[in-house]
Amino acid sequence: MNQRTLCIIKPDAVRKKIQGSIIQKISDAGFRILGMKMIFLSDSDAGKFYEIHKERPFYKELCTFMTSGPVVVIALEKENAVADYRKLIGATDPAEAEEGTIRKLYADSKSENAVHGSDSEANGIKEVAFFFAEYELV
Ligand code: ATP
Ligand code: MG
Repeated sequence: MNQRTLCIIKPDAVRKKIQGSIIQKISDAGFRILGMKMIFLSDSDAGKFYEIHKERPFYKELCTFMTSGPVVVIALEKENAVADYRKLIGATDPAEAEEGTIRKLYADSKSENAVHGSDSEANGIKEVAFFFAEYELV
């Protein structure tokens, strides 16, 4: 079954100008890009997007980081997209990520880890809808 998942190329990766390499890896892995845009997250949007982490000790640091520069948000579609994309990006902490994964290749630390990925089919749908209206998706 086709699933949607949301990729965010985080501010660290955009600062390093490696968004092109990341998009290439995602395309090569067979994901279809339904929508893509570069945006600057507001404090309020970052806070809302990461609301599930509100009680975690890193919440404030995470929101500050995600609003520290532009990000690229990408709506992706593929068979089994959620699990396959999380496998492609690797573990949250690049030190624990498998060889060849996006975070192993491009992430600097557990907090500045290059990309976001939705963690369930329901959140994939919800997170794509957070950034894209249906008419913006091809
Ligand atoms: P993402 O949701 O960004 O795809 P993830 O699902 O691998 O990453 P989560 O546990 O959902 O990881 O954490 C969300 C984000 O919060 C992480 O990607 C990272 O940027 C940051 N983060 C997670 N744990 C820590 C931590 N211990 N210290 C600092 N930042 C953290
Ligand atoms: Mg997560």
